[in-house]
Order: sequence, then C-alpha cells, then structure tokens
Amino acid sequence: MEVSDPDAIVNVEGLSITYRTVYGNLQALNTVDLKIKRGESVAIVGESGSGKSTLGLAIVKLLAPNAYYTKGRLLLDGRDITKLSNRQVSLLRGSTAFMIFQDPLNTLNPVKRVDVQMLEAIRSRLKQKGETFNEEAAYQEAIDKLKDVRMPDADSIIRRYPHQLSGGQIQRVVIAMGLLMKPKLMIADEPTSALDVTVQAQVLDLMRELQQEFHMSIIFITHDINVAHSISDRMVVMYAGEVSEASPADVLVKKALHPYSQALIASIPTTSKKEGQLNAIAGSPPDMISPPKGCRFHPRCPFVMDICSRESPRTVTKDESDVRCYLYG
Ligand code: SF4
Repeated sequence: MEVSDPDAIVNVEGLSITYRTVYGNLQALNTVDLKIKRGESVAIVGESGSGKSTLGLAIVKLLAPNAYYTKGRLLLDGRDITKLSNRQVSLLRGSTAFMIFQDPLNTLNPVKRVDVQMLEAIRSRLKQKGETFNEEAAYQEAIDKLKDVRMPDADSIIRRYPHQLSGGQIQRVVIAMGLLMKPKLMIADEPTSALDVTVQAQVLDLMRELQQEFHMSIIFITHDINVAHSISDRMVVMYAGEVSEASPADVLVKKALHPYSQALIASIPTTSKKEGQLNAIAGSPPDMISPPKGCRFHPRCPFVMDICSRESPRTVTKDESDVRCYLYG
C-alpha cells in the first residue's frame, strides 16, 4: 500500500516484530505506532531492551536475520517496506535514509582511505540514477560534504584511513557519507555515547544544524533524557517493546504523564559525572519472551490497579501527549 500521509517521512502503524531465539520467540515490538513528519526531529528514549534500536533498524529494514515482521505497516517515504524486496528496500534506503551507530568505525571500511569510500558512495548514487561519474567533480563533492559537517582540514582528512581519525572525526565522516546520498531522514542510534562530553556536544550541535540546513528528519535513539531533550522536537518513550508516551520534548520533561516516563525523568541525576544518564528504576525490565500480561509496566508501577494486570491499555490523547495508561482513560 502506498502513501497514507504525504507529510510523514515515516509512518509506523501497529507494528509488531519478533526475534526467533533458541530460548523462544522474543517480542521486541508490540503494536507500535509512530509518525515522523518531514523536517521533524524525534528522540526515541528507553532503557536497554525497550525496543528502541529494533524500531530504528526496522525503519530501514536492517534487522538481524532472525527478526520478522508479524503485524502492521511501516511506510518509509510513502512505501510499505515490509512488502518490498531487499533490493527495492536497498534502493529506497539509499535515496531516503541513512543510519549512524554508536561505533561509527563499523560503518567505515578500515582498509580504505576516506576519499576512496566517499567516491564509491557517489559512484553508487549516480549509478542508481543512471548518471555519469566524473572523478574530479566527485572528489570536490566529497570535500564539500566534509566541509558541510564542519570538518577542519578536510583536504588532509580525506586522504586518511579510518584508524588515523579521532572518534569525533570518524562520526563526522560517517555523517558526511550519509549526506552524499541526499537523504530525507537520518537515524542515529546512540551516536554520541562513545564520545567525550565536549565532542558529544559538538556532534549534537552539528546534527541540529544539518537538520535545518538540509531540511532532514532525525530519529535520535538514546537512553539519555538530557541528550534527547536537547536534540528533539518530540520525544517517544518506549518500554518493553511498546510506546508508552509520545509528547513534545519540553512537555515530556516538564510534565510526563506515564508513570514510566515520570520514573525516567525522576531518575536523572542532577549533579555528578554521570549527569544525564538514567539511574536504575525499581524492579527489572521484563523477560521479553514472556512479557507481563496487561500493561507491561505493571510489575514496576507505583500506581498499578486491578485492570492493569489483566488488559493492555490503549493509547489515549491527553492535552499534547499520547499516553498508554489506564490513569488517563
Ligand atoms: Fe501503571 Fe496501570 Fe498505567 Fe500501567 S496502565 S502505567 S500499571 S497505572
């Protein structure tokens, strides 16, 4: 099925994803709804195992081979990628979205210089469009893109191998390579957590600037509420494979509605080296092979009611927030 909302670059409707494991089927996502508008920056927040990375990978169909879509639709730039072949998705991904990861070195080929890798990316883009490759023009484009990501000394950096670059420089090269494809969407999965605080702030600023400059959408996946708030227009909180709350970023930080969101906000340390990281919330995340019945948060929720352990709450809209909790209807 094709475009349902032309303003949305991503439209996820009732999506469920399961991983087959030796211990049984792991329900990584359960009936997830998510819409990302063109030009919008959305942070997906949650603890480890909440499904946030699975959701990011699913949007560009880069899931592990033991994952399968069990329900729902996933429209990327108007096309349902659950129904496309791997080749069709690869073409769509190349022209629409790119993903950056916590360890950007894995994205680059360690035995090829930056210029070789960037020229290969340009050649691939031109080939897809049936256009002619010109090495001189491509080299200049690669330099321009490195300058777009504010890379100091781009003429020298482009001739280096990945191991000759710092963590911040590698992340900039990866972003520059993504920009070569003229994407509409950048998905970043914990892209700054391996960087020191100063470089982290520079990369976050850069992503914000690029979003404005290239009118891209950003999906920023993180466990760090402060980082999420600093980069996003809207925040989506995930718990145990479900979206528990989605709100404008300022609203979520000032007036979280879902008890899990409230616990996340309350757990942010205000003064310490680990500022911005999440402290443990009482109880443990559930076993996703046999998650709790009803609301998946109920074994840890201080407001639990009888109905919470019997039936799964539906998502309701309260003021500017969408929240999945019986406290709101
Ligand atoms: Fe807590 Fe019930 Fe709301 Fe779940 S539905 S978050 S258990 S109050």
